[in-house]
Amino acid sequence: MAELFDEIVNLSKRRGFVFQSADIYGGFRSAYDYGPIGVLMLRNVKDQWWRSMVQLRSDVVGLDASILAPPAVWEASGHLASFTDPLVDCRECGARHRLDKLEDAEQCPTCNKRGTFTEARDFNLMFKTQAGPVAETAADVYLRPETAQGIFVNFANVLTTSRKKPPFGIAQVGKSFRNEITPGNFVFRTREFEQMEMEYFVPPDQADQWYEYWCNERMDWYRDLGIAADQLRLRPHADDELSHYSSATSDVEYLFPWGWDELEGIANRGDFDLRQHAEHSGAKLEYFDQATNERYIPHVIEPAAGATRTMLAFLMDSYAVDSVNGEDRTVLRLDPRLAPHKVAVLPLSRKDTLLPTAREVFDLVSPHWMSDYDETQAIGRRYRRQDEIGTPLCVTVDFDTLEDRAVTVRDRDTTEQDRVSIDRLEDYLRGRLGF
Ligand code: ATP
Repeated sequence: MAELFDEIVNLSKRRGFVFQSADIYGGFRSAYDYGPIGVLMLRNVKDQWWRSMVQLRSDVVGLDASILAPPAVWEASGHLASFTDPLVDCRECGARHRLDKLEDAEQCPTCNKRGTFTEARDFNLMFKTQAGPVAETAADVYLRPETAQGIFVNFANVLTTSRKKPPFGIAQVGKSFRNEITPGNFVFRTREFEQMEMEYFVPPDQADQWYEYWCNERMDWYRDLGIAADQLRLRPHADDELSHYSSATSDVEYLFPWGWDELEGIANRGDFDLRQHAEHSGAKLEYFDQATNERYIPHVIEPAAGATRTMLAFLMDSYAVDSVNGEDRTVLRLDPRLAPHKVAVLPLSRKDTLLPTAREVFDLVSPHWMSDYDETQAIGRRYRRQDEIGTPLCVTVDFDTLEDRAVTVRDRDTTEQDRVSIDRLEDYLRGRLGF
């Protein structure tokens, strides 16, 4: 399993999924950069989330709130006081650890000495900066550590402009920042990352039923996009794990090489957030139900997922090595919806006679699907490259194409090939990809 992890890190760099940030300066462990292939896959993860959470639903609307927010927001949300992790230093080797993530609270995993930790200190994870050019008069602001608060502070704006009524949701995808004590495991835990969060506002007496509903919906989303059933689980929090305002929380967990770990948390947050912001801001954050003449603060069900972490899970889950004609090959068996390129157009050789037709085929398919075009190296090596980045279908233009106006379409998983006339190619690809 640890080997699989190394393979993924390796493949990510080799094929342009993920690069270490500031690589040429020795690397910056807190953040990663998504390369030409990775940016496509990360977008697909976010787009699939958006599609299922916003596009296909009439009860959820989207939002894109700012990353910077003033202290008042974090005062009300409780982040200033309690968005902390317990930090310990090892007196022996100087290593810093997050106490609640240690396997053994007495032993330093860096130097293996026991009983060397300092008292735990609460370390606030928010990044603070200043707004304004003159330091003395500049105002403190914080980079958001979650996208959720931008949703709560816009509750009234959205309610009045969208004409929605509970049960309804507000969804948002975007960057969040946490000054994690121990970033690590590649893109699993970074200080800058992307979240996909939705706050679903419901009448208080419907909260339990909607909590169950969203737990099921979210598990289905991962399974539908291909995560193996035995690699995924829903883990309800024990009572002593729950935040004080949450009556129920479950984590969607994936079996990573280091064990089960969180992809998403689904929480029944009660009316905590809207009540806090109403009290601190003085705004009325309620819903008035004209049918029953009742005014109430909606309760909130929150499915909160990490886009970057989820992409890592999809990468790991789709990675396979099999044998083709007696040779090992690496293949990402990604669902076509997540695959960076859906189609690759490959002229068999770089001979001038083939290139115009290959460009013509690229121009035919690229308006419909994100497509790659590659005329370098031998065709076998180009197939391997496309397998490694998970391209479901390769379209090869060969010398017969000039005679019969047909191309060869090769399947990533079976490596079987079909001959298809260029006239029919678009319909054929749509049938194969399913979209
Ligand atoms: P953890 O216990 O792993 O620190 P959390 O329970 O604090 O995570 P939430 O506040 O519930 O996480 O955030 C929702 C989601 O955001 C997480 O399930 C995860 O997918 C993602 N996430 C949170 N922190 C990070 C991080 N440092 N790097 C990457 N993704 C993150």
